[in-house]
Amino acid sequence: MTTLYFDHAATTPLDAAVLAQMHPYLTEYFGNPSSPHAMGRSSLNALDHARDQVAAVLNCSNAEVIFTGGGSEGDNLAVKGVAESYLRQHGRAHVIVSAIEHHAVLHAAEALERQGVEVSILPVNSDGIVLVDDLVAALQPHTAVVSVMYANNEIGTIQPIAELAVVCRQHGVVFHTDAVQAAGLLPLDVKALGVDLLTITAHKFYGPKGVGAMYVRRGVELWPQIHGGAQERRRRAGTENVAGIVGLGAALALAESKREAEVARLTPLRDMLLQGIAGEIASVRVTGHAQHRLANNASFVIDDVDGDSLLIMLDRRGICASSGSACTSGSMEPSHVLQALGVLSDDTQAALRLTIGRSTTVADVEKAIADVVDVVAKLRG
Ligand SMILES: *Cc1c(COP(=O)(O)O)cnc(C)c1O
Repeated sequence: MTTLYFDHAATTPLDAAVLAQMHPYLTEYFGNPSSPHAMGRSSLNALDHARDQVAAVLNCSNAEVIFTGGGSEGDNLAVKGVAESYLRQHGRAHVIVSAIEHHAVLHAAEALERQGVEVSILPVNSDGIVLVDDLVAALQPHTAVVSVMYANNEIGTIQPIAELAVVCRQHGVVFHTDAVQAAGLLPLDVKALGVDLLTITAHKFYGPKGVGAMYVRRGVELWPQIHGGAQERRRRAGTENVAGIVGLGAALALAESKREAEVARLTPLRDMLLQGIAGEIASVRVTGHAQHRLANNASFVIDDVDGDSLLIMLDRRGICASSGSACTSGSMEPSHVLQALGVLSDDTQAALRLTIGRSTTVADVEKAIADVVDVVAKLRG
């Protein structure tokens, strides 16, 4: 049985060309970038090159790029880093996040709340879009940071980031966007987006796991979350993950070079999934916005089917699918994203997310549709 991977929002395979570029930094060139000798310089040069690659895609200066241990760390550093810095200066701070953020943002905001920071949660409409008026209404004189994700990991909804960022800029509030799902599918030009902070993680765009990058606009003050050495301009201590960072830079450059062609190839495959599954099964609802959604995301709520059983039966047929967030599937907690959309009922319902990628073919999509239709019929019968 062949395995068909429909879970690219959870993670992607490491690209072979990216691995090849990382290899020397896992073997021959093992120096610490902070060391003052030739081996240290080789590693430092590799970091500089990767920083330039990221800065080119983000349209920023390389001094505005910092490397992290991934998306969760970046989200924490952005939200807590700005809020804690603001709190120290003003004695009071307020944070605004959307209701459908990744838990790395939501739980960071909850942790701040326990330190006395005020937190507002922005609602979304039934398509999963944050409304600019809701942001305007939530702003307070002591709002330190607003965090709204570029695209959602469960339902693929793309937010009006540039419009939200303008409002924050006008009010002198720092704006962060979690662009983890957007990377490789949407433009990451921070000037066009107007954001102050932006987070990405390599393993969502065919790079290695455990390494991320952040754009930190010059002048934004971040209280470090990891204290120690002076790495990353004193904002993220610790010996750099040199091979991982080389992989992130290479993977981002590659993803950007393929981006437009890949989006053009994935969009009709995604639409086949959306129309095939919604068209052939009764009582199915597509979750997320019809147009403002990522080219790789097809997500649904299916009535009268148990979610865990659906995923298990698809898995037995070699289909790797998800109920949405990798972090909550398997637990009985309903997804906070679907709750925010208001699409859940008290009856049995399954959330299904199919996310496609570079390896996905038309034949794979046809097989997945047939299997989902068949499994749902069996579970209902
Ligand atoms: C995967 C993901 C993260 C977490 O990134 P890690 O590198 O796995 O820590 C954060 N936000 C979003 C939207 C994600 O999809």
